Amino acid sequence: MKGLASSLLFLSSLIGFTSPWGAGRNKRDQQTEQDNTQSIEIVEEITIEDEPFPAEMVVTEKQELHSLVETRVPESVLQELDLYTDFRVLEQGNRLQFEYEGSVLSRVFVQQNDYERLRVELLPEPTVMLDTFPLDAKSIVMTFDKKDLFAPNADLLDVLDAEPGLIGIIDNQVDIVKELTDQDSIEILAVGRYRGEALEYLESVVSLRINHADTSSLSFKYPTEDGNVWYGEDLKPRTYPLLKSPTDYIIISSQYGVMRGHKKHKGTDFAADIGTPIYAAAAGVVADAGWGTGYGLRTKIDHDHLGDFMTLYAHMSRSYVKTGDVVRQGQLIGLVGNTGRSTGPHLHYELHKGHRQIDPYGKTVRDTFKAPQIDDLSLEGYRNNVDRIFVQATQSIVDVEELLLAQNSAL
Ligand SMILES: [Zn+2]
Repeated sequence: MKGLASSLLFLSSLIGFTSPWGAGRNKRDQQTEQDNTQSIEIVEEITIEDEPFPAEMVVTEKQELHSLVETRVPESVLQELDLYTDFRVLEQGNRLQFEYEGSVLSRVFVQQNDYERLRVELLPEPTVMLDTFPLDAKSIVMTFDKKDLFAPNADLLDVLDAEPGLIGIIDNQVDIVKELTDQDSIEILAVGRYRGEALEYLESVVSLRINHADTSSLSFKYPTEDGNVWYGEDLKPRTYPLLKSPTDYIIISSQYGVMRGHKKHKGTDFAADIGTPIYAAAAGVVADAGWGTGYGLRTKIDHDHLGDFMTLYAHMSRSYVKTGDVVRQGQLIGLVGNTGRSTGPHLHYELHKGHRQIDPYGKTVRDTFKAPQIDDLSLEGYRNNVDRIFVQATQSIVDVEELLLAQNSAL
């Protein structure tokens, strides 16, 4: 006990006590000890057994953790503590907490910030652990334009990592090839994980706003039992996973399913000038890039993340990808041409499910990506909440923990 009492005195000279229950009396105890060294042992012994002291300390000046705890924890713990180099030196404001079982020290916490702490368990076996806490969820608003969608900058690539289907969600609202203009803009409301002021990583995208022509429309991600589903401001789902227009066409010269003599047309023909860019309708892996009978220069892309879907682009004049390439949605893959069995410059575009072609705009694909039935009132309430946060986040960084909680509780 004498050792402990003297170490407490040592500590008290280095750190301030913030224990809500003992501060006043313990100051008095120190005073007593300075006045009368003979009686101190008895006073301290009673104090420790009745109310373990201290419960919490705040470091008032730069100190080595080792020196602060060396008289209170076993040598084995000290050695292990030294391995946590980030905690070796404590700065002013760092905290130490002591927990007791009866009068026996059972646990020590060392806290430098709100997101991690060192926990020393003394019972039953001494161990040291690093506890981490979730980083703060705060808003990030980013703005992109049409050219970014086709040639993403680093910021947009981060966004696409968090929300791989983003380009398609935008395209659901405004056809990015045919309708979106260079003057339009897309604002993204994302959730970032922050460590204090510093952004650690982009966690998710929760909403986007497309400013197109004179209108501004919101799309938002709504959590359902079957996963997240994007909805538009009109509460209609935005779940079609393919670009509506894989090229900037003049007219659709032949739709899927029209009869040509006795044969059905198994694709969609987009009439366009030679050299018009062709974009991947969805992200995927190039299954085959080369020449095909009748098809001329053609590219096939597997979209395994969507299920057993594949798209095919034919009669190209140039191809920019090779078999095995991983492509983003909206990535330039080739140029319109007139190769193979073609009667004029156009893109012949096919969607395959399994081994057969289906109408890219037909019932099968729409049914496959049909949104679950959600009560309009819940959707509307959620949309209004997101809209409000979006407006705030445009002005300043806001806490979006509330929004994430709403997402979780909706599940
Ligand atoms: Zn065709």
